[in-house]
Amino acid sequence: MSSTTDLQPLPPGTSAALDDLIACPSCDALYRVEVPKHGERAVCARCHHVLIAPIQGAILRIVALSLTILVLLITAIFQPFLKIEAAGLSHSSSIVDAALSFSEAHMIGLSVAVLALIVFIPIARALLLIFSLGPLLLHRPALRGARSAFRWAEAMRPWSMAEIFVLGVGVALVKIVDMARVELGLAFWMFAALVVITVLQDGFMCRWSVWAALDSGHPDPFNADRDDSDAETGLREEPGHG
Ligand SMILES: [Zn+2]
Repeated sequence: MSSTTDLQPLPPGTSAALDDLIACPSCDALYRVEVPKHGERAVCARCHHVLIAPIQGAILRIVALSLTILVLLITAIFQPFLKIEAAGLSHSSSIVDAALSFSEAHMIGLSVAVLALIVFIPIARALLLIFSLGPLLLHRPALRGARSAFRWAEAMRPWSMAEIFVLGVGVALVKIVDMARVELGLAFWMFAALVVITVLQDGFMCRWSVWAALDSGHPDPFNADRDDSDAETGLREEPGHG
């Protein structure tokens, strides 16, 4: 089990450099940064929101899982998602067919929104994470625009809804399973795997550690040999804000 450290709130009037501070995104309490050991977590003493949870090799795993998500999504688009048989008729459809079915009912906007939420945004998010964090794994400084890319990837997180789609399909299947024979296609299982992978990826995602890695140009900044990590990383961002 990982141990937990309660950070102590800064007394009012204390001065500290901006880089040494971290604010709780839940309750706005302000703390002086104390980096916990790998596997340990620093939490807000007031609301117990996890503030810093460095995991060894997290950047490598985030990038590897982003690549997996990318391959799964791009492959799943072209694979059959569901096959429904009823009264001697059968119909097989892919994700794109399912989304485009709204356009037949003159709801092209809904088709575009569905495709964006379950395919394009997750793909864009995976690409942004690979772009922003991939170079660190090659021990190169973060690319120009890496910080913006990571910020965008984080902003897209609530709009990446592949898992909600799978859940919705599951609920719909329960309702029609008495009326028709339903066969789950390869794409369905790929999306189901995607849900698990996304949860795993979120587990490795300590935003403060990622910002620290982007600043230091080292994928494991708290274990880095500081001498070789003085990369040119441009402006330093305030860590801890997703
Ligand atoms: Zn808090």
